[in-house]
Amino acid sequence: MNKPRRALLKVIVLGDSGVGKTSLMNHQLPGTKLFRYVYKKFSQQYKATIGADFVTKELQIDDKLVTLQIWDTAGQERFQSLGSAFYRGADCCVLVYDVNVQKSFETLNNWHEEFVKQADPADPDAFPFILFGNKIDGGSSRMVSEKKAREWCASRGDIPYFETSAKEGYNVNEAFLCVAKMALEG
Ligand code: GDP
Ligand code: MG
Repeated sequence: MNKPRRALLKVIVLGDSGVGKTSLMNHQLPGTKLFRYVYKKFSQQYKATIGADFVTKELQIDDKLVTLQIWDTAGQERFQSLGSAFYRGADCCVLVYDVNVQKSFETLNNWHEEFVKQADPADPDAFPFILFGNKIDGGSSRMVSEKKAREWCASRGDIPYFETSAKEGYNVNEAFLCVAKMALEG
């Protein structure tokens, strides 16, 4: 039998401060079969030097062992001062907004633009972006409809869209599985 092939993929998570990026990345359902390991690498050095940090999630897709190295801002996203080391070599970009905060939806355009500028992918229109609408557990305080979000995704070349709750664990693994598949296909 052939040995499973391995892939290490770099994923960047962007969005306004407070939308739930760190919570989504660190989320793991107890007993999940989908992701074999989720661990926080010791990467204080990165945190200090480029103001970012990463977690690692491993999963198997068909005959491939896929390691997602998921990069998070260390809280300085307000200032949008992330250097190119943060973006370099990204295989997928996850954009996150909070469905209860209109502003976090409007700034998606800036984050999208910033990624294209900094990561400078060969073909920005073909680059694998994905959108998470987080905090859908909020109930009546919702400000951005699913329809509006899907329209935005369509206008950006059919970006896949997932509604998530890091708090309740809703749709988080499914969304990251899509991230892994997209990053793998490139
Ligand atoms: P970040 O600044 O984008 O990394 O956001 P954090 O992950 O630090 O989350 C900001 C706040 O929102 C924290 O108080 C989280 O507990 C909370 N939070 C994150 N995800 C959710 C969610 O899905 N639902 C709710 N209700 N709160 C969330
Ligand atoms: Mg954070």
